[in-house]
Amino acid sequence: MRPDKRIRIKREPQRGRYDRETIDLILDEALLCHLGFEIDGQPYVIPTLHARVGDKLYVHGSAASRMLRHLAGGVRVCVTVTLFDGLVLARSVFNHSVNYRSVVLLGEATLVEDDEKLAALHALTEQLAPGRWEEARQPTAKELKATWILSLPIEEVSAKVRNGPPEDEPEDEDLPVWAGVVPVHLAAEPSEYDWKRVRDGRLGPA
Ligand SMILES: Cc1cc2nc3c(=O)[nH]c(=O)nc-3n(C[C@H](O)[C@H](O)[C@H](O)COP(=O)(O)OP(=O)(O)OC[C@H]3O[C@@H](n4cnc5c(N)ncnc54)[C@H](O)[C@@H]3O)c2cc1C
Repeated sequence: MRPDKRIRIKREPQRGRYDRETIDLILDEALLCHLGFEIDGQPYVIPTLHARVGDKLYVHGSAASRMLRHLAGGVRVCVTVTLFDGLVLARSVFNHSVNYRSVVLLGEATLVEDDEKLAALHALTEQLAPGRWEEARQPTAKELKATWILSLPIEEVSAKVRNGPPEDEPEDEDLPVWAGVVPVHLAAEPSEYDWKRVRDGRLGPA
């Protein structure tokens, strides 16, 4: 099915993906997104965390957040999620590129309450560190009240994927210049100490 005009990728359309499997894999792997919206004619693009549960994408923050309060008012929002996979170094400057997987989601956000709010917070916590919801203390009623969660339906959405080597011009292929892909990944380092325990002189096992 031809995607709707608003989410149709025009440049390099062969890189466009509209299937939920591709879209969900990108949303689930990424640790952060950017929310784009307009207030009084000024566009803002704000980085934040996200998590997907089924057909909804959740974002959260302080009940005092201007962004969340504005978006809860039913305005149009654009969510962008990007996974940066590699530097694509070509033999010509013009053909340099990057490998990536990205998602653009358009829609209107809805404020989430009660059981759905708890499920979304669970998903947001697990997105960062699987298993952490059970390990750490769970939110009190006061903390829940201070937290707002918004949901966006995953409906008006596109993905774009570039992978593979550089696309050099045939006449450049014998130039004495290295060309290829330098893979790039977001990687966690070994954990630091639990600083509270260091301060208290308790460095042994928890
Ligand atoms: C890490 C990274 C680096 C990039 N660097 C460049 C660059 O330097 N120059 C450049 O021109 N482009 C770059 N792109 C590609 C860029 O995101 C756009 O796809 C591109 O500008 C062409 O947009 P368009 O005119 O086809 O679509 P537009 O008319 O801008 O958008 C139409 C619709 O297409 C969909 N769409 C467009 N781009 C994406 C996307 N990336 N992911 C998911 N859906 C999308 C959206 O639904 C959007 O509403 C980069 C992408 C990534 C992820």
